[in-house]
Amino acid sequence: MAILASLSWLGCQAIDLIFPRYCIGCGREGFFLCSPCGNSFPRLEEPLCKSCGRPVDYPGFCADCRKNSPAADEIRSPFVFDGLTRTAIYRFKYRNMRTLAQPLAELMAGYIGANALQSDVIVPVPLHKHKLKVRGYNQAELLARELGKLTGWAVAADVLVRLSDAVPQARTSRAEERYRNVKDAFACKDDSLRDKNILLIDDVCTTGATVNACAAVLKNLPAAAVRVLTVAREI
Ligand SMILES: [Zn+2]
Ligand SMILES: [Zn+2]
Repeated sequence: MAILASLSWLGCQAIDLIFPRYCIGCGREGFFLCSPCGNSFPRLEEPLCKSCGRPVDYPGFCADCRKNSPAADEIRSPFVFDGLTRTAIYRFKYRNMRTLAQPLAELMAGYIGANALQSDVIVPVPLHKHKLKVRGYNQAELLARELGKLTGWAVAADVLVRLSDAVPQARTSRAEERYRNVKDAFACKDDSLRDKNILLIDDVCTTGATVNACAAVLKNLPAAAVRVLTVAREI
């Protein structure tokens, strides 16, 4: 065991020599994201809508949620999608920096602990198989797996599936259009998530259309509760 541990340590050292780690924020060696930089991410401040998590003027629900309650029980994000948060997520998602999953999940776990969130199972927002083939990984699944290790909660990454690869979200600007694109895009392969208290994970929440479409499918099982946690929120 000691030999194996030494070999694995040597392997890490060799990888660090070939691909040295530098913090994406301050450039400090030895980290992909050092903790002072992670703690400097712009925070999403209260008051936030109790349901969709959007900033509001007064504590309570936003006008949209008062009119139609969304499928997800609540959507929460510790950070604003801006500054270093945006850089980190961009590199994590589009520049193959999969190793950022761990520090980003640690920041999410910090939020879970501080807000006493509870869950039976973590479910990542799925990618369509075509997009998965192009990108090589689902960033939400990497976050969910790291978060599973940190919380001890089960991770179900293959039950909720994405059926249609509609227009990429970033290219669709209007909220209604985004919702139309994702309305029928998701399905559950089986009912193993029935009656579960689910924590749905994604990297960024923009309008909430994608996570609400996922939540609607899970609520149909029915799931006991669907809470959403994303690293950041676009406001
Ligand atoms: Zn740093
Ligand atoms: Zn709301």
